[in-house]
Amino acid sequence: MDHILHLKSLISGRTFRPDEIEYVDPEFGPDGVVDVVYDYDLIKSRISRESLRDNRDYSIWRYKPLLPIEPDAEVPPLQIGWTPIYAVPRLAAELGLRHLWVKDDGRNPTGSFKDRASAIAVVKGRERGAEIITTASTGNAAAALSGICASVGQANVIFVPEKAPPAKVAQLLAYGATVMLVRGTYDDAFELCLQAADAYGWYNRNTGYNPYMSEGKKTATLEMCEQLGWEAPDRIFVSVGDGCIIGGLHKGLKDLMAMGWIDKMPKLMGVQAAGSNYLAEAWERGENVLTKPAINAQTAADSISAGLPRDRMKAMAAVVETDGAYITVSDDEILSAIPVLARGSGVFAEPAGAAAYAGLVKAVAEGLVSADERIVVLNTGSGLKDVAGAMKGVELSGTQPHRVDANLDDLRRVMATL
Ligand SMILES: *Cc1c(COP(=O)(O)O)cnc(C)c1O
Repeated sequence: MDHILHLKSLISGRTFRPDEIEYVDPEFGPDGVVDVVYDYDLIKSRISRESLRDNRDYSIWRYKPLLPIEPDAEVPPLQIGWTPIYAVPRLAAELGLRHLWVKDDGRNPTGSFKDRASAIAVVKGRERGAEIITTASTGNAAAALSGICASVGQANVIFVPEKAPPAKVAQLLAYGATVMLVRGTYDDAFELCLQAADAYGWYNRNTGYNPYMSEGKKTATLEMCEQLGWEAPDRIFVSVGDGCIIGGLHKGLKDLMAMGWIDKMPKLMGVQAAGSNYLAEAWERGENVLTKPAINAQTAADSISAGLPRDRMKAMAAVVETDGAYITVSDDEILSAIPVLARGSGVFAEPAGAAAYAGLVKAVAEGLVSADERIVVLNTGSGLKDVAGAMKGVELSGTQPHRVDANLDDLRRVMATL
């Protein structure tokens, strides 16, 4: 791992060798998030835009020299990343925009963006010879970990709050995970998971704790810029819960700038649910996220419900340093965006994914974007993850099926009314 210079504590700036600490800066415990700092000169000798042009590995592993793993690391067989990016001219026209794309991360093997991070966790866990890999999660991160573990026969233990949606728990059990339904909140599950990892020596995938998760998530911006011919977009809209995704996108963009592969930094637009708006509120009020207390989070977009975002430092820096913004949208706006995005692009998103599009709609309405900007909306999860959410969105849209007798005459009657 000669391409990693050190791990840098976000709070104190203190640096550590990668073999010196496993996850966080010990002085600050779980708040002591660290960033992976690379030797870009060395990396430039191993990968270039030209070498990528000839690379037929259409997955996150095409960027291996920019990832915190050994060059010859064995990687899981599931195809993760290189998700499609679609130009969506009809949606663009509706919004009065000229250049709009949707990148669909619902197309990852377990149905969400989280596969990008869990893939790195599985490689790191196996590098360490861990018997068990563990995480706490309300859903998609756990599904991603257990699915990728299943692809290599890796044992895993998942801590889930007791109230997690049963469909999400079923996906974990289908993948063969050992599931602990914790009597308590997500925070209780998180805390128990940390203690268990420590007590049993398990490898810990937790978001905003394991520094390598942002490194997996950054692959989305590496891909996006490569897919757009290395012409970076002006703005990227993404939904935000714990803040690990937006922090990872920012890291990918910083990598691209350091490598000289793009020449301007896109603005990151973080979209939060009105009922889970910790970061949006902190950003508007200029509050310090190290001292701002947790809020009581409640939203229908369960994947972005976070009372105290675990990766709040990276998430705040992502918006502030790129001159972006935080936007909040109501649950009705989020659910209504599901059918709007689906019929305008063919991309079916879960509520947390559609939230990013709802954020774009609001940003346009508020005059935050101009018509000729190049804009990417990231869908972070498949609509099949939360069919009940889609049903509510369709209900809000007022569209209904038509009832018809089983004969052509009646069909003609109905067709005439359309
Ligand atoms: C986890 C998740 C998010 C938010 O990511 P954070 O890193 O928690 O901000 C958004 N959408 C989906 C579908 C997710 O699973």
